[in-house]
Amino acid sequence: MPCLLVDSHAHIDTPRFNADREDVISAAFEAGITRIVDPGCDLDSSRFALSLAKAHPGVVFAGVGTHPHDATTYSDEVGTCYREMAQEAEVVAIGEFGLDYFRMLSPRYVQRAVFCEHLQIARDCDLPCIIHVRDSHDDVIELLRAHGQGLRGVFHCFSGNVAQAEECLAFSGFMLSFAGPLTRQGNALPEVARMAPLDRILVETDSPYLVPQPLRAKRNEPLFVKHVAEKLAEIRDMTFEEIAQVTTANAIRLFSLDTDPSRQRRSESEQRQIGNDAGASTATQSANLQDGGESTQ
Ligand SMILES: [Zn+2]
Repeated sequence: MPCLLVDSHAHIDTPRFNADREDVISAAFEAGITRIVDPGCDLDSSRFALSLAKAHPGVVFAGVGTHPHDATTYSDEVGTCYREMAQEAEVVAIGEFGLDYFRMLSPRYVQRAVFCEHLQIARDCDLPCIIHVRDSHDDVIELLRAHGQGLRGVFHCFSGNVAQAEECLAFSGFMLSFAGPLTRQGNALPEVARMAPLDRILVETDSPYLVPQPLRAKRNEPLFVKHVAEKLAEIRDMTFEEIAQVTTANAIRLFSLDTDPSRQRRSESEQRQIGNDAGASTATQSANLQDGGESTQ
């Protein structure tokens, strides 16, 4: 099954998928959404996301992190667990983490401290960051300038204006990800989507939240990422296929999704066996590329 689209952000670990999680993953897969990144929101959901990724190698990938809503649940012990989990091939990002001053479910100083902890984990583990920003743009930019230099990642479900997008894009390793709000009226997102460089954009659902319009579903799911990509194509005056190709390539590049984790682990141990033979490791990589890095469930 070729990869048409990547849902770069879907919380399929949440209880709202308990009744039909496997069906949801299959429906997306059958429709060509053959890769899904599931970012954890606290230790438990990060563990669950990782277990889903292990159960669906090459299809579901995990992020590990603590959402700003849950920042008060973060501790050094939790951070240690994330670092351990980050060694697993199925963990492709640190996050989601960030600052949310709209709901302010954790005190601002706690959110800021936990944000910085995640930046350090991402740096130490050499993984991209999945960053949540809500009514907190200035603080996120300030903390990234102070502690995030050289990191890479995504501003997920970007919801700001053009000036804010420019500040985000000034971090050269970061992309903007568009979700359901792009399909709604009354925001600056079409302008942002038009100005963002093609090699810096992703699409996502943020399932189970943010159902794209005009769908009337009560729950969002990875299958619906098509509607975000369609809207993006319309705004950019490109074909759906072009947008699919571009955003898929970006997601694969940012999260290093092009290798089946089981194969990657095998090739890593092969590489260890053969020491520093660079020629052999290049051969392994190109073998992975030749079969498209695809796998079935
Ligand atoms: Zn999210």
